[in-house]
Amino acid sequence: MNTVDFIMDKRNGLRHSNEDIQAFVSGTIHDQIPDYQIAAWLMAVFFNGLDPEERSTLTAQMARQGDQIDLSSIKGKVVDKHSTGGVGDKTTLAIGPIVASCGVPVAKLSGRGLGITGGTIDKLEAIPGFQTEYKIPKMIDQVNRIGIALSSSTPNLVPADKKLYALRDVTATTDEPSLIASSIMSKKLAGGASAFVLDVKVGSGAFMKSVEEAKSLAQIMVEIAKSHNRQAVAILSDMNQPLGNTVGNALEVCEAQDVLLGKGPKDITELVMVLSSYMIALSRNASLEEAQAQAKESIRTGKAFQKWRQWVNEQGGDITYLDHPSQFFDGIHKVPFLAKEDGVLQMIHCDQIGHAAMILGAGRESKSDAIDFGVGLDLKKKIGDPVSNGEEVLTIYYRDSNRLERALGILRNAIVIGEGSVENHSLVWDIIH
Ligand code: URA
Repeated sequence: MNTVDFIMDKRNGLRHSNEDIQAFVSGTIHDQIPDYQIAAWLMAVFFNGLDPEERSTLTAQMARQGDQIDLSSIKGKVVDKHSTGGVGDKTTLAIGPIVASCGVPVAKLSGRGLGITGGTIDKLEAIPGFQTEYKIPKMIDQVNRIGIALSSSTPNLVPADKKLYALRDVTATTDEPSLIASSIMSKKLAGGASAFVLDVKVGSGAFMKSVEEAKSLAQIMVEIAKSHNRQAVAILSDMNQPLGNTVGNALEVCEAQDVLLGKGPKDITELVMVLSSYMIALSRNASLEEAQAQAKESIRTGKAFQKWRQWVNEQGGDITYLDHPSQFFDGIHKVPFLAKEDGVLQMIHCDQIGHAAMILGAGRESKSDAIDFGVGLDLKKKIGDPVSNGEEVLTIYYRDSNRLERALGILRNAIVIGEGSVENHSLVWDIIH
């Protein structure tokens, strides 16, 4: 393959052959194609897209290079859940124990957070002692013993995505649907699950700002899964405000635990139940109604909560923190953030909430930053709620007053209070089978 011809084909809106895509992916990870040519191709794809066969081939080729996780020795059908990323999204922490307690094996590879979106690994590491660096055989052994294990991704899972993602990030090509879908689905395919439940976020805090865009991304991801003989369902869920009330690692652990105890906020509880039900239905060949009933029952009987404690304990986490969550916040100060007028909460700029939490220390500005697990935000109001002048809109958990000052500057623009009621739409926008 001649790389200049390959770029020119896409620039001119032509389609690539499977052989050329294979050669291109191989060339990127073996450093045979310079970054400037990869970047030029990414921009050509941004304008002209990829057709279903091209993106299926691209995804397969990316997945094939690097580690392939073999989960075939796990008893039962492994269904993986993936979220396209949002602020306050702690669903994995609650879904894992719910579905595991219903007999669905959970073998999950997760990532750390960067920028405004948190990572599941960081949230779990807020529990002192929790180990997240597992080798695959150890993970499989734990899944077969207690039904659930979660580890950080293996270092060589889809190296092509690491290369392409880094270049997309600096060439304004992150939000092209075929590139997002191949990035996500290559990692899912290499991760070895048989089926996927995809949580595609839509709204101001998501990659996809409109329902139409999110729907098209969801359809592409489901179609890629099917072209590789894996089942997939995509749930379009709202990300116009943080999910649940909390943003920040230990706060999110506590909120996920509340969901497992049946006392979590309404929105996150609803999403956790929908995603869990689809995972149970796909893994156990159950009807959605049966799966929903099982998920509900696992919470009502305390089975899901017991599974959570067993899981945390098994991975080395100190479960006294689950019993006495105030320990998470030793040395942390709290300050209320007050409304400056009467009205109705019109808008919460998700990205700014994520940014403020990051500035407090809950996330990383750059890869090497350390995380302060106890800091974060606890929302007392959500979009559509009436607010009076002087009323608490959120609580800020902080350690360092300089960081607090910076976060306050961001929060002042993040919360919009105005007159008039706001139409409340449902959390789940659509479901794509
Ligand atoms: N998550 C990914 O892994 N890749 C993307 O491109 C977007 C979200």
